[in-house]
Amino acid sequence: MSHMIYPTTNFAATETMNIARGDGIYVYDNHGKQYLEGMSGLWCASLGYNNAELIEAATRQMETLSFAHMFSGKTHDVGMQLADTLTAMVPVDDARVFFGSSGSDANDTQIKLLRYYFAAIGKPEKRKIIARERSYHGVTVAAACLTGLPINQANFDLPIDALGILRTDAPHYLRGKQDGESESQFVDRITANLEALILSEGPETIAAFIAEPITGASGVIVPPADYYEKVQAILNKYDILFWADEVITGFGRTGNDFGSTTMGIKPDMMSFAKQLSSAYVPISASVIRGDMYAAMIDPCSKLGVFGHGYTYSAHPLACAVALKTLEIYERDNVFAKAAATGTYLQTRLREFNDHPLVGEVRGTGMIAAIELVANKETGEAFKDGKVGYFAANACQEHGLISRPVAGSSLALCPPLITTATQIDEIIEKMGKALDDTLAFVQQQD
Ligand code: PMP
Repeated sequence: MSHMIYPTTNFAATETMNIARGDGIYVYDNHGKQYLEGMSGLWCASLGYNNAELIEAATRQMETLSFAHMFSGKTHDVGMQLADTLTAMVPVDDARVFFGSSGSDANDTQIKLLRYYFAAIGKPEKRKIIARERSYHGVTVAAACLTGLPINQANFDLPIDALGILRTDAPHYLRGKQDGESESQFVDRITANLEALILSEGPETIAAFIAEPITGASGVIVPPADYYEKVQAILNKYDILFWADEVITGFGRTGNDFGSTTMGIKPDMMSFAKQLSSAYVPISASVIRGDMYAAMIDPCSKLGVFGHGYTYSAHPLACAVALKTLEIYERDNVFAKAAATGTYLQTRLREFNDHPLVGEVRGTGMIAAIELVANKETGEAFKDGKVGYFAANACQEHGLISRPVAGSSLALCPPLITTATQIDEIIEKMGKALDDTLAFVQQQD
């Protein structure tokens, strides 16, 4: 186990899986056992492992310029090229881009940009942010306040009240519906709750609404079809910005270029990380509308400086690898191919709807979750995460890496380059793991 303090790990755990190398969509542990990386690591290794072009781009950049910063009057070509390339891709008008190193720091940056922007346009009281239950937006002190999972706040004295984070419903029909409620009644109720929250707090005090278009860590929740249309109408009515956290859903993951595209969202701000560089190097991007940036220029020049920036903002190595990643996405038509493979994945996964343990199969494109339930008829959830962990371990036994999320859901997020034949391999291994899990559950009864 070494002297490491492990992230998001039970400190008492003694078993680890030591990953030694990766190739294509497979990784190998230190005993040489092969696993299909069905989670792209942590929803990030979109182009798989050992990609010669990304390695070459990194090597070339290291040889040319291993570090340069962007503070107070400095720049470099590869950073500017990456910003311009992203601006041309994203569905944010005349986008401006700030770079960091992680999804969490991208969201922290957005909180500061929001404060700075609303102060700049003479509305400093517009500062609260609405986030949803069961959302995941990261773990830095500010991002963890946005996150709606108790495990990320308990024992850390979070959330910090001064950040003004408000909470609204998670759009998950299975777990959120009330007795006899139809899906559209559910959407009407939770969007009415959102509007009531805005009115009770005062719309003039609320800056933005943050949402993952489709959630990841909280169980791959795909909201009902008309949910975002209704949310967006409410936000427009009260002049509240839509902030899309696309750290997982960005870059071809959901069957389109962005999760916002898939879900019909028109965002004002977007956060990215993970697939921006296919996870070869850490990099994140906080994107805002061009007119928001323009409004901050004059007040900033009076203050002298925008007092926020990381040593590694626009690190040249990260920018070079991200730029090559975006070039490969475009040149090889990666998103369209992943959309076709994703349709196949979703169809095949729904074969598990007949399995006695499966309560719901969710997902779109190349992201999915299978929720295991204690009672198939009623949808009753398992009391704790034991069954989910058993199932994920059973997948591993069969050479497939999945991940237990939200208790007893098994997530899948295979690399975008996965082929249909490899999807068949995922289904076969998952089927065996589900059968093993059923035997385990029956033993417990
Ligand atoms: N936002 C979302 C939607 C995420 O899924 C994650 C990470 N899973 C983050 C933010 C935080 O990213 P990081 O772990 O790089 O800080």
